[in-house]
Amino acid sequence: MIKTKIWLSSPHMGGNEQKFVLEAFDSNWIAPLGPNVNGFENDLENYLGQNCFVGALSSGTAAIHLGLILLGVKAGDEVICQSMTFSASANPILYLGATPIFVDSEEETWNICPIALENAIIDRIKKGNKPKVIVTVHLYGVPYKIDEVHAVANKYDILILEDSAEALGSSYKGQKCGTFGEIGVLSFNGNKIITTSGGGAIITKTKELKDRALFFATQSRDDAPHYQHSEIGYNYRLSNICAGIGRGQMEVLDNHIDLRRKMHAFYVDLFKDISGVTVFTTVSEVYFANYWLSSILIDPKLTDGIDRETLRLALEAKNIESRPLWKPMHLQPIFEKYPYYGNKVAENLFEKGLCLPSGSNLTDVDRNRISVAVKNLFKK
Ligand SMILES: *Cc1c(COP(=O)(O)O)cnc(C)c1O
Repeated sequence: MIKTKIWLSSPHMGGNEQKFVLEAFDSNWIAPLGPNVNGFENDLENYLGQNCFVGALSSGTAAIHLGLILLGVKAGDEVICQSMTFSASANPILYLGATPIFVDSEEETWNICPIALENAIIDRIKKGNKPKVIVTVHLYGVPYKIDEVHAVANKYDILILEDSAEALGSSYKGQKCGTFGEIGVLSFNGNKIITTSGGGAIITKTKELKDRALFFATQSRDDAPHYQHSEIGYNYRLSNICAGIGRGQMEVLDNHIDLRRKMHAFYVDLFKDISGVTVFTTVSEVYFANYWLSSILIDPKLTDGIDRETLRLALEAKNIESRPLWKPMHLQPIFEKYPYYGNKVAENLFEKGLCLPSGSNLTDVDRNRISVAVKNLFKK
C-alpha cells in the first residue's frame, strides 16, 4: 500500500473560511473590493501592531513590485537584495529595469550579512551608483539581524523593503516582522503559514503610502467620472473571495504558529543524537521564529557520507517531501551576471541544507513516519 504523501507545507483551514466566503456570495461581493478585503486588512493591522497600515494584494510578488515603486526605484537604479531567498524577492527589481546587487548571508540567521552589506554599499558608492533600496528577507520565518542591518542602512541613508513573506507572526524584541522596513511585504500563497489560495499584502507606516499603493494596484485611476490615467497602473488587488479565506485563517494564525514551532521542536529532538546534523534554530530569545519551514544542515564529513541528497531521496522513497534550501540568486542562470558581495556562506548553506515537512496539519502518524525514515537512514 502506498502511504499518503507528507507535504513540506500544505494549506490548513481553520473552519470559518467558508463562512466568510459564503457571505461574499450571499451579498454578491465577488470583486477585488468588499467587506472581506477591509476586514482582512483590519485583522492584519491589529495583529501586526505598530499603528501600521496594510493593503491586501493579489500576491507577495505584487507587493514587492509596488513597494519598490513607492520607494522610488526607477530604470537604471541599483537595488541591494539578499541572495539567499526565493526569486520573487528579486524579480520585481528587473520588472522596473533596475539592477539587483546581491549580498551574502551570515551563519546565525542565514539572512543578509551586515558586514557584506556595508562592503557592497561602499563599493557601489565608489563606482558612482548609490543603491536606492535594500531588500531584506526573514528566511523560513527566522528574523534577520534587524539592529545591525538597519544600522548600516541608516548610516548610508538607504531605505529597507522588508520581505516578510515567510515570517508572518515572527518577531524581533517583541515587534512583529513586516513592520521594521519602510515597506513590509506578506504572502498568502498556498504553501505559506496562512493562505488565501493566493494573495499578499503591503505594509506601510502611513495611510498616504497605503492609499498610493492601492491606487497603483487598481489601475492608477485619477479622480474623474471617466477613466483617466496619468500614471502606469497595475491590477494587483486581492479579491473579496480570497480575503474571506484570509479572515478565517487569521482566527487560527497563532495556533498554527504554535503547531509549526512544535514541528521544529520535534526535529530538534529527532536529530539531537545524530552527529553531523544541526536544526536551524534562533540564537537568542530576542528572535521569535514562526518556523514556517524547519530546516537542517547536514555535514557529510560527520555522517559517514550521508548528505542532504541522500536524506532527500530516502524520504522521497517513503513518499515524504523535503527540499533543498533556496538556491542563492547569484547562482541562478537569470541573475548570475549581476554583482555579488560575499564569502560563500549562502553557497555552503545551499549545499548542506534541507527543508523538512513543517505543516501545522501534520499528525503523530506523520511524525512517526518521518522519524522512522530518518532513524533507518542514519543507523546504517
Ligand atoms: C513566497 C515568497 C514571496 C512571493 O510571494 P507570492 O505571494 O508567492 O508572490 C516573496 N518572497 C519570499 C521570500 C517568499 O518566500
